[in-house]
Amino acid sequence: MTTVTGVIIREKRVGENDKILTVLTRECGLIEITAKGALNLGSKNGSNTQLFMYSKLCFNDSRGRNYINSSESVNSFYNIRLDVKKYALACYFSDIILYTIQQNEQCDIITRLLLNTLYYLDNGKVDCSVLKPIFEFRHICEIGMRPQLLCCQNCCRYSTDLGLDMYFDMSEGTLVCEDCYEASDDDSEIVKLRPRTVENLRYIALTDYKDLFKLRPDADESGRLSLITEKYMQIRLGRSFRSLGFYKSI
Ligand SMILES: [Zn+2]
Repeated sequence: MTTVTGVIIREKRVGENDKILTVLTRECGLIEITAKGALNLGSKNGSNTQLFMYSKLCFNDSRGRNYINSSESVNSFYNIRLDVKKYALACYFSDIILYTIQQNEQCDIITRLLLNTLYYLDNGKVDCSVLKPIFEFRHICEIGMRPQLLCCQNCCRYSTDLGLDMYFDMSEGTLVCEDCYEASDDDSEIVKLRPRTVENLRYIALTDYKDLFKLRPDADESGRLSLITEKYMQIRLGRSFRSLGFYKSI
């Protein structure tokens, strides 16, 4: 018997009453657990195995498959399932994790990032428009694609204190100051950043987790951040996600 505590980030119905859960756990990363009978009315594991529940799950390993034995709710993140926009955003975050994290890979930091994001999504203290760029950018940083945002790649100028714009090359993950930037024929993956946007991207990429969700950009700035973090993620992963299209359609 094994016990894990994790967030259910995917559920797949199997047959009449069973489902296969994909769970992000601190202990073993992503794992699949079959919940037999969970769709039966009155099932003891029904409510604790819903999407985005943070639950303690006890399971048996039988012939290479995990079967749930008992479960206990740690945090239901109830409000996420009541609000279609929050639900769509949480589905998008789940899709990013499912695409970028391997099964049984240690991912304590990713679990922490998702739990914190779901916490603020659930209680509404941070708006969806701010949580989206925070999660996208910090996640891509944590999986080894943190761009070099500290200073100009060419002259090492820190720059924002001088009020200069900077250019972010998203395919290279580098920053160049206004003076060093040379326009080229193909600059579709280069974006011009205002000093405040550079500071906010540095903040998301590098600040301690205890301060990460204190970021409070205004609506214009969160819109700018969101465009950049979304595009950076798509360039680095080489794909987009259908759930993102659904979130944007709401
Ligand atoms: Zn420079």
